[in-house]
Amino acid sequence: MAEHILLVEDEEKLARMVELELQYEGYQVDKAFDGPSGLEKALSGGFQLILLDVMLPGMSGMEVLRRLRRESQVPVIMLTARDAVMDKVSGLDSGANDYITKPFVIEELLARIRAALRVSGKAAENGEQEALTVGTLTLEPESRQVTVKGERVELTRKEFDLLEYLLRNKGKVVTRDALLDHVWGFDFVGETNAVDVYIRFLRSKIDERFDLKLIRTVRGVGYVIEEG
Ligand code: CA
Repeated sequence: MAEHILLVEDEEKLARMVELELQYEGYQVDKAFDGPSGLEKALSGGFQLILLDVMLPGMSGMEVLRRLRRESQVPVIMLTARDAVMDKVSGLDSGANDYITKPFVIEELLARIRAALRVSGKAAENGEQEALTVGTLTLEPESRQVTVKGERVELTRKEFDLLEYLLRNKGKVVTRDALLDHVWGFDFVGETNAVDVYIRFLRSKIDERFDLKLIRTVRGVGYVIEEG
C-alpha cells in the first residue's frame, strides 16, 4: 500500500514540484497551502508522514506542529528557511522528527522521508510506545514502570493510569471529568473526589517523596502536570 504524505507548503510551485517527485517515488500526496487547513488535514489522520513548512500563512508551522502533537505522533519533517537555527531547535523541541533546510535537493528530502517512515514503521511493528517524561520522572507505557531520578516508584494500576493520562497531556490542565472518563472509563455520577484521592496518592509517592512539585492543582478546574 502506498504511503500517504501530507505536504503543507504555501509556495505552490515548490509544493507542486515536491508532489510530482513524491508521486514518482510511489507515494500518495495530499497538499495544503496554509497553516489552518494543513492542521485540519493533518488531524483528520490517514497520513504516514507530514512535511511541514515553517513560514505559512494563517498559522505558523511551529503552531501547527504544537497543536498536532496534542493529538498525534505522526512523523513530521519541518521545511525550514536557510540557516534558521532557531526554527530547527524549536521545531525539534516541539516534536518534529527531522527538518530539512530550503532550498534542498530532492534526493536528500527523499532520504529523510524514507528514514522517518522506517523509524515509525519499526516502532509500530514492535508496538513500541515512547517513554513519557516530565522533569526527572519517566514513565514507560510498555513495561508500566515509573522512575524518578532513576529510582523506581511502585504505583497501583489506577495511580499509573492517572499519571499516564496526565503525562500524555503534559502542560495542559486536565479536568476531573476528563480524568474520570479516561482513567475510570465510565460516566461517574455524583462525587468526583475519587480523582482527588488518587492525586493525593500520586503526590505522596512522587512529589512528597522526591521533593518535587510536578502535579499542580488548578482550583475549580482540575490538575496539570509540568516541571514545577
Ligand atoms: Ca513558506
